[in-house]
Amino acid sequence: MKKIVFIAVLSHVMLTTPGITQFNHPWQGKKAAVVLTYDDAINEHLDNALPLLDSLGLKATFYITAFSNSVQTRLNDWKKLAASGHELGNHTLFHPCNGGPGREWVSKQNDLQNYSVRRIENELRMANLFLQALDGKTKRTFAFTCGDMKVDDSLFINGMRNDFAGARAVRNEMHKLNEVDLYNIDCYMVNNHSFEEMKAWVDKAIQTNSLLVLLFHGVGGGNSLDVSIAAHRELLLYITQKQKEIWTAPMIEVAEYIRQQQPGFKH
Ligand SMILES: [Zn+2]
Repeated sequence: MKKIVFIAVLSHVMLTTPGITQFNHPWQGKKAAVVLTYDDAINEHLDNALPLLDSLGLKATFYITAFSNSVQTRLNDWKKLAASGHELGNHTLFHPCNGGPGREWVSKQNDLQNYSVRRIENELRMANLFLQALDGKTKRTFAFTCGDMKVDDSLFINGMRNDFAGARAVRNEMHKLNEVDLYNIDCYMVNNHSFEEMKAWVDKAIQTNSLLVLLFHGVGGGNSLDVSIAAHRELLLYITQKQKEIWTAPMIEVAEYIRQQQPGFKH
């Protein structure tokens, strides 16, 4: 009997003591944060991902390449997507990447190696202006195209910290709240992974109190980097079932939260 009373008191203390709760639940009172990101603005995001996200009440970040075919032909659909609470993230105007061996698809005019720092800054600021015209917002996050971060040997994001709340890279890692680098946020890129494989990432994030950022390209087609509709659906359902343990929000909200929480962050 005494033992039961002790446990009851202890659990009450644990639930009502902010320090202990925060230690185990650092992400807005949850154990982990999961950010769903979709890159390159393709039709399958509008047709296959968005209806499921909206039916489950999950908000995501869509990293928009402004000059993509889908944006050119379905501008109003992208506006509606933003109006329903998803973030339009910046993924450049023209999707420049470093060309070279293995990157033969990169055209000469979109080769980042032919850019100057000023040119990529101008492109990203113009993309921000374009996205602002769609959603009215002046704060958003960026995703490096092909994970390429340098122009002329310099990290161009360093001169743009006031333009973005954070920037997503492509390294397969997850980090605790105080370890996240806001201008080099790691993520797990989905490339025909099964539900079980992706579920394991989610479970690891919960176990380690980490931020898990998922990067999707195709969803049921639209890109060679793909996820099946079934695996994507199962994963989103699993994340929804785990909402007591997982905070799911667009990258902009999570980045602003991290900025507030990290001691000594230069505001
Ligand atoms: Zn991309």
